[in-house]
Amino acid sequence: MTHYVILGSSAAGLSAVDAIRQRDRSGQITLISREPDATYSRVALPYILSKEKTMRQITLQGPDYFKANNVELVTGVGAASLDAKTRTARLEDGRDIGYDKLLIATGSLSRVPPVQGIEDAGVCYHWTLADTRKLAASASGGAKAKSCFVIGAGFISLLTVSALIKAAALKYTVVEIADQVMPQLLDQQGGRALERGMREKGIEVLLGDSVTALERWNGGYTVTLKSGRTHQAEMVVCGTGVRPNVDFLKGSGIELGRGVLTNERQETNVPGIYAAGDCAEGLDFLSGERAVHAIWPTAIDQGRVAGANMAGDSQTYPGSLSWNVTELFGLTSASVGEFRDRPGLEPIVFHNPAANIYRKLLLDGGRIVGAVVIGRAEHVQDLGVVQAMIRRRTDVSRFRHWMQGERINYGMLAFETVRK
Ligand SMILES: Cc1cc2nc3c(=O)[nH]c(=O)nc-3n(C[C@H](O)[C@H](O)[C@H](O)COP(=O)(O)OP(=O)(O)OC[C@H]3O[C@@H](n4cnc5c(N)ncnc54)[C@H](O)[C@@H]3O)c2cc1C
Repeated sequence: MTHYVILGSSAAGLSAVDAIRQRDRSGQITLISREPDATYSRVALPYILSKEKTMRQITLQGPDYFKANNVELVTGVGAASLDAKTRTARLEDGRDIGYDKLLIATGSLSRVPPVQGIEDAGVCYHWTLADTRKLAASASGGAKAKSCFVIGAGFISLLTVSALIKAAALKYTVVEIADQVMPQLLDQQGGRALERGMREKGIEVLLGDSVTALERWNGGYTVTLKSGRTHQAEMVVCGTGVRPNVDFLKGSGIELGRGVLTNERQETNVPGIYAAGDCAEGLDFLSGERAVHAIWPTAIDQGRVAGANMAGDSQTYPGSLSWNVTELFGLTSASVGEFRDRPGLEPIVFHNPAANIYRKLLLDGGRIVGAVVIGRAEHVQDLGVVQAMIRRRTDVSRFRHWMQGERINYGMLAFETVRK
């Protein structure tokens, strides 16, 4: 009987459990998760912050699921190290767990920027449920918060502010080192449209500046910026990106790049050890290079492929496509695939500044390779079709004129492009 050990009980780990059980009903599965709160959806954490959802609504799997699938769940303790020779994972409490097949699905950690004073225990991040609880407590006036200073205008920090603003009437200031908001997911014009939406909600946005020091002041903080400006805030949120959670693998013999390097089967350089999700550096669909794509759909897909292969199947992962749709400050923002202009790419842009609607499709030799959209829900609802066309490398060059107006009939576009 095979003993499967899975490190991490989130998107990647849980989809691997399903894939294993579809192929092997009797093997032993041990699922180990460092967090005490097992199996919740990280993507839904902002709804807990804004009080729009309850824990029950964001729980992914309950005790019944683990019992029915004969999964031993170990929570509140993580793996501290791995010994690939003896096929053993050592846990933080000193226990050794042997395995036949192992999946590393340990996700990401919040990145801590080099800012003097940032180690202060009061600074909030947003990655785990414990972080969400701390954010909620800080905002609800435990420290009599009136203002909130946010370091970084990336995806997670803006999601956090967008949720906090619904629950706590604070004065929000966001500083971003780049010259636009959400530089990892939006091009400059998309960033401008989102920034306008933020300012309309009363958020102060500081671009092209960064925090150099945090100092405790009267129950709050004095924030010093590189430009020399200072701000005072009772609450500080830091959202400067995430990094793969792989430090515990150093010295294990498993090859690391930015994350755990995997092949198209999600297997590492050590036979029998797989990696999936945010901690893995797997194939990028468009470039064919290896990359870390820290998004939920990639974690699900890679976890499924890893689990299948751990159970003896032979599946390959076609590569991850960057993909994000979210509601921020009353605007719907989305991007898929490539979204930045570069030589060789042809942009097709629709822009209505008065209505704050912006859309750009990018073509490479007539094939759609990406899109970025800021607008209302109806402007992004068919982007799944664009994603499918990117994956099929569909040639849309004959239909450029269909892609000019405010609304695109993506369904018809997809249909016509496959007709001979
Ligand atoms: C607030 C927020 C909103 C988000 N919104 C979106 C969104 O809209 N769309 C999107 O695509 N993505 C979104 N994401 C990102 C998405 O949640 C991640 O890409 C996804 O959770 C990655 O899944 P994963 O299974 O790889 O890792 P994670 O979800 O990070 O899970 C890692 C697991 O490993 C466990 N673990 C950690 N260290 C150890 C260890 N040493 N030993 C054992 N277990 C360990 C953890 O406890 C956890 O169970 C959001 C993330 C956050 C925080």
